[in-house]
Order: sequence, then C-alpha cells, then structure tokens
Amino acid sequence: MSFKIAVLPGDGIGPEVTEEAQKALVAVAGRFGHSFEFTRGLAGGAALDAQGSPLTDETLALCQQSDAILFGAVGGPKWDNPQVDLRPEQALFRLRKTLDLFANLRPVRAFPMLSEKSPLRPEIVRGSDIIIVRELAGGLYFGQPKKRWETEEGRRAVDTMDYSDREIARIVRVACELARRRRKGVVSVDKFNALISSRLWRQVATEVGQEYTDVELSHMLADTFSMQLVTNPTAFDVVVTGNVFGDIFTDESAVLAGSMGLLPSASLCGLPTGRTLGLYEPIHGSAPTIAGQGIANPLAAILSAALLLRYSLDLETEAQAIEDAVQAVLESGHRTVDILTEGSTKVGTKEMGDLVVEKLLS
Ligand code: NAD
Repeated sequence: MSFKIAVLPGDGIGPEVTEEAQKALVAVAGRFGHSFEFTRGLAGGAALDAQGSPLTDETLALCQQSDAILFGAVGGPKWDNPQVDLRPEQALFRLRKTLDLFANLRPVRAFPMLSEKSPLRPEIVRGSDIIIVRELAGGLYFGQPKKRWETEEGRRAVDTMDYSDREIARIVRVACELARRRRKGVVSVDKFNALISSRLWRQVATEVGQEYTDVELSHMLADTFSMQLVTNPTAFDVVVTGNVFGDIFTDESAVLAGSMGLLPSASLCGLPTGRTLGLYEPIHGSAPTIAGQGIANPLAAILSAALLLRYSLDLETEAQAIEDAVQAVLESGHRTVDILTEGSTKVGTKEMGDLVVEKLLS
C-alpha cells in the first residue's frame, strides 16, 4: 500500500531521532511491501530562522494532505527571548488547532530489563502497561474568560475550565475503543467532588461507557489517581482525563518507564480505528544540551513511528513488528546513555536505530 507521511524534524535532537524513526519506517516498507512517500517540512525554531514563521501555510498544507505526520521536537534557548511573540512551540499549537487533534494518547510501558532505571521499586513498575488518553483541545487551557486585570485590592487573574458534552463524549469514546482492543478497562479521572465541569465529565463518561457493554468504565478522583499511578500502576489499562490533569499525569507516568527517551505519543483527530490523521512525536523536548552529539535515545521516536502505523495507516502487524524489534534490541543489552545499566553495551543514536532496523529485517 502507498501512503504519504509528512516529516517535521524540528529543533535540537528532533532531527537526530526523527531520522532513526524514518529509517524504521523505510525498513517496514521494505519488509511488508508498502510504499511510503516522505516529505520534509520545517517546524519550530528551524522554521522561524529560515521562513520567519514557526509553521508556514505551505507546511500546514503538506500536513493536511498527508496520511500522517512524524514530528520531532521544537524549541531551544536560541528562541527563548520573552520579548519576541513568535515562538517555536506555536508550530505544534497551530497543527493541533487546525487539524483538531483532540485526542492525545500516551502509552506507557515498563520494559522489564529497564526497571532499575525507574525511581520506583522494580516490583511496583514491573508489568505496567497503560495508555493515558488526554483531551487536548479544550478545558482549562482554552476556556474563556482567560485574563488578568488590576483591581483596587490588587492583581487578579482567571482561567476557565469549560467542557461541552460533545467534547467529553468524543474523548471517552477514544478511550473505550482503545480498551476494546486491550484489557477492556477504562478509568475516567476527574475532580467530581470540587468542579462542576467534572460533574458533567463524569455524567457523560458514564453515558458513553454504557454504549460499550464489553468495556468496564470506572471513575477516580484526580488526587487519588496521582497516588495510585505511582503506587499501583499495574491496576490500570486505559485512563482518560481532561487537558490539565492529562498534562500532569502523562509526565508523572514517565517515571514508570525510567527515561523520557522511551515514551512515544500520538495526537489524533478521530477514533483510533481505521485510518485517522494523526501527529506522532516522542514526549521529550529538543534536549538542546545533548543535541548534535549523537547520544540521544531514538527509541521514543521509533516507537512513535509504530503508533503512526497503528493509528493512521491501520497497519497493526507492522506496528507490532517495530515494537518487537525495540524490545529485542533492549533484550540484547544495547543502551543509549540515558538508559545505560551495569553490564549493558553503550550505543549512540544512529547505532540504536541501525540495531532496530537489523531486528526488523531479520
Ligand atoms: P527535554 O525533554 O528536551 O529534556 C529533559 C531532559 O531529558 C534533559 O536532560 C534531556 O537531555 C533528556 N532527554 C530528553 N530526550 C532525550 C532523549 N531522547 N535521549 C536522552 N535524553 C533525553 O525537556 P526540556 O529540557 O525541559 O526542554 C528543552 C526544550 O524542548 C525547550 O525549548 C522546551 O520548550 C522544548 N520542548 C519541546 C517539546 C515538544 O516539542 N513537544 C516538549 C517539551 C519541551
């Protein structure tokens, strides 16, 4: 089959790790007889420098005309001037908004051979396999009013947590569809006891849950969940939550895996069934302090390519092949510096990518 993939490597280590993810996709195309047409575009600081905009209309059009977007990372100290309005991360915001990428999926797996890299005890993280589904387009980050003003008593500011039943229903459906293909459990996380928007969230989540009789949907308060995530992570299958809670929990969940360099993500504009346009990126940033040294871990980017195959191209076997190859490379004891353990073999970014390709083609 033939697919168009937009590749936006971005800044810092973005281009280094994206290169390895693209290599894995090329290997998949060769092994399974597909044809992937990759078209590159600039994003973030690289686009600001070369084109005066973090994401030009042309690059946006390229993404809209593609089957999927492979994204690296954007940002870095060079573009951190607070006096300048145009910022690298606006590339991501524009893509999310224009393409309505409302569903952010972050799978978190604790690889058994890396459990000592987690700050949590191995017996706690071992066996963790969760997908956190974060609502990405609404809630506290976008609700109006959102402003700051002066009063006679001093300065004030307000943000608004605003959700419609439509926004809640569509993200809970994403979680239920995912659970259907996994262990059939969804935990919906809210602050039902304190927030009116959470009461609507819980009501709508319950209604949607009733449409999925094969899925067990339960509810948990955000404060309880934040503790359970690090004390009893194996209890969770799919977790669905709003934008601000999801922002916090997805980062908290990174401690289960042990390194930022291992976690992929997908942002989708529809259900994770069939072929849905999506943006695929490692959860980490541009890591400017290690950029250009060839030491960044490319596995998060490579695992993002697996998600791209699964959710945008509907190629499950091919996605699984990448995930198996990553697992096999880790089992063979090869490690980038961020996941180095005693007795393992240190490799760089490119070597790690080569090893994954080798396993894919063997
Ligand atoms: P970061 O994720 O770039 O780095 C955090 C730490 O993890 C650093 O020590 C880094 O060296 C390490 N690290 C990250 N990825 C790694 C990898 N693949 N292999 C090995 N080590 C890795 O976060 P930060 O330092 O807070 O931010 C750096 C820049 O990235 C900032 O400009 C920030 O705005 C940007 N950022 C971009 C995104 C994105 O593009 N989605 C996300 C987060 C941060």
